[in-house]
Amino acid sequence: MWTSSIPVPESEHFTIHQLAEGVFAAIATPLGAAYSNAGIIDLGDRTLVFDTFDTPAAARDLRTAAESLTGRMVTYVVISHVHSDHWMGNQVFPSSTIILSTHKIRAGMPEWGDEMLEHQQDPSEYKDYVRESEDRLAVEKDPSWQTTLKRSIRRARYQLQSLPELELRYPDQTFEGNLVFHGSQRWVELRAFGQGHSESDLVLLLPEQGIAFIGDLGFFSTQPFLPYGQLGAWKKHLLFFEASDFKTFVPGHGTIGTKADLALQRRYFEVLEQQVAAVIQAGGSAQDALKIELPAPFDAWLAGGMGRLEANVNYLYTKLSEEA
Ligand SMILES: [Zn+2]
Repeated sequence: MWTSSIPVPESEHFTIHQLAEGVFAAIATPLGAAYSNAGIIDLGDRTLVFDTFDTPAAARDLRTAAESLTGRMVTYVVISHVHSDHWMGNQVFPSSTIILSTHKIRAGMPEWGDEMLEHQQDPSEYKDYVRESEDRLAVEKDPSWQTTLKRSIRRARYQLQSLPELELRYPDQTFEGNLVFHGSQRWVELRAFGQGHSESDLVLLLPEQGIAFIGDLGFFSTQPFLPYGQLGAWKKHLLFFEASDFKTFVPGHGTIGTKADLALQRRYFEVLEQQVAAVIQAGGSAQDALKIELPAPFDAWLAGGMGRLEANVNYLYTKLSEEA
């Protein structure tokens, strides 16, 4: 791994990992306000940030980190997909920073943004959620669920804190296909993959360094979230990267990984599909499907996201029932 003498900025919300000269991943800490991962690329003459986290508080530290690592203001912010946990920090960047996404990502953003404005008007749903989760944590005996609940409560508390200051900022420029930034030191490609984890997934590629920032196409050592995507297309995207020359993958959630992590994530999809299909074949209900127990190593992935397994099982039960 490339190392340098640049002092690494510290934040309670993320840790900075240098992947190559001028290429940094910002990986969310389990109890911070980032919730998702981001990237910082020094093009040599311009600075590019990939995704802006779940809250303005975490994004402020990201902006500071990007400015101190590259010695200049952020020129571009790129948004990987429509889910609000990847762009609620947009507002902390100055109007001189150009925010980019695909046409489709931007078109879908108001639906997510309006929901956040509704919470801003009436935060009772978050407050109820925190109260109910704390009640559950008080009686929960399973250590894995305790961890999940603690993280989930922290996230909801951070979101509650951020609501009063929240201002929606949408991309200034949109595109489809691909877009290449030719910097004075290095170049990066943005590539729209279409449907996968979401309706439109955008990745950032550094072919010369073998590094790919793949947004939520990647969930490493944590449960992926299926219901908003198109599973068949998603698997194809993972296979594309497994067959590629890329070596280092920065996922939207979880730790920095390799092709082995992509393969393991595909295995998670297969295992869950097989388990839900078996329940359907045996005439079981959606309730029965929720009793599924994930085998190792996927059982340890539960701590990453509250409610993701339940949502995935319900999604697959409906999808596979319709296909049967
Ligand atoms: Zn997502």
